Amino acid sequence: MRVSRYFMPVLKENPAEAQIVSHRYMLRAGMIKQQAAGIYSWLPLGLRVLNRIQTIVHEEQQRAGHIPLLMPTLQPADLWRESGRYDDYGQEMLRIKDRQDREMLYGPTNEEMITDIFRAHVNSYKDLPLTLYHIQWKFRDEMRPRFGVMRGREFLMKDGYNFDVDKAAALHAYNRHMVSYLRTYERMGLTAIPMRADSGPIGGEDTHEFLVLAATGESEVFFDSAVTDLRLGNREVDYDNREEVASVCKEFTTLYARTDETHDQALFDAIPEERRKVARGIEVGQIFYFGTKYSEAMGATVVTADGSKVPVEMGSHGIGVSRLLGAIIEASHDDKGIIWPEGVTPFPVGIVNLKQGDAAADAACEGLYKALAAKGLEALYDDREERAGAKFATMDLIGLPWRITVGPRGLANGVVELTSRRTGVSEELTPEAAVAKLVEIYAGI
Ligand code: ATP
Ligand code: MG
Repeated sequence: MRVSRYFMPVLKENPAEAQIVSHRYMLRAGMIKQQAAGIYSWLPLGLRVLNRIQTIVHEEQQRAGHIPLLMPTLQPADLWRESGRYDDYGQEMLRIKDRQDREMLYGPTNEEMITDIFRAHVNSYKDLPLTLYHIQWKFRDEMRPRFGVMRGREFLMKDGYNFDVDKAAALHAYNRHMVSYLRTYERMGLTAIPMRADSGPIGGEDTHEFLVLAATGESEVFFDSAVTDLRLGNREVDYDNREEVASVCKEFTTLYARTDETHDQALFDAIPEERRKVARGIEVGQIFYFGTKYSEAMGATVVTADGSKVPVEMGSHGIGVSRLLGAIIEASHDDKGIIWPEGVTPFPVGIVNLKQGDAAADAACEGLYKALAAKGLEALYDDREERAGAKFATMDLIGLPWRITVGPRGLANGVVELTSRRTGVSEELTPEAAVAKLVEIYAGI
């Protein structure tokens, strides 16, 4: 993409309404525009990151054997009357009437609808295990929408639902989700710690929230600092192997890590003092085992191997897809702007032409742009007739992890400069070597 032809309305001034850094940088980089409280348009640069995040979520869900579908945003109220949640949900639910006076709602989540799909088509244990998920817009009429996409009213969520024949199988689905989420967040360059959370009125112990540590987080968290060193890395996990998946979960949930809702001071005090941490975190996901709560209320049953009919065991599992942009920026920025991890960056690399109109510089930039494209790397080429300082400031603000700087002086020696946004370290390379290095960097992403 050439900057001269792109739509990237960068702001020079700090927008007054933004209280936290991620919101400020998303507005300044021209990624989003607020249309109403907690409701945003996704401008081209923001949409690119949102799409990258969705791609990672899809890949990791499908790697775990989960199946995508797509449910609508609008739902009939009657489905929610079956579970009893139409009355329970309160003012967070946006209720709408259509022209026939039928009561509808903009879905805040989809347990009822997925249970309705299940009961219409599945009735045998032979069709299980089954996990269906989608990535769809949700609406919650939050009391205090704030911090940009972090707490919106309309927001994008991945929500998945497992259906299993018994509790042991459903807990395996829970564990599978935990491992797939760990991998998902790591690919986005994040450390998201699974923390035991409160299951609320449903009871039981089987819910974890995933938290990204950040001073601006809304949750207070208590943990053993050793938990922040855990990494899944590239290890292969066989998602069908219950013991293997459970042992990974154990590795990540044995050290103390809890939100304030489930915090236990006595257990916390037992951690060696230097490892006891109290901090703030951003909730980027939650997994939940709830058994037969919805299947019983809505008559979703399966016939088991011995011929008996039982309500299907379920759980639901969510990732805050649009919130993740905010969380990633909170975790990865400096005073010049965003620093995108390679996994989610809107463009893998930026090209800055120091002297637009200089025949050699223009030709070298064009050559780099095409050579990168041929390797599947779409560069953002700043081909505007702007001063170098302004081009650098824009590149730093929008946070592409790599920048190639091309100028007549370097070209006279046959080199361009490749700079890391994260470390600021630059390297002089031939254009071919710069392309080769980027190809290598992105090969594993
Ligand atoms: P919170 O406690 O932050 O209100 P929640 O626990 O009600 O969130 P869930 O029902 O668990 O949310 O939804 C799954 C994920 O969706 C959350 O982990 C979070 O990342 C994201 N999410 C929830 N509410 C919002 C919102 N208002 N704006 C953006 N993302 C949200
Ligand atoms: Mg939650």
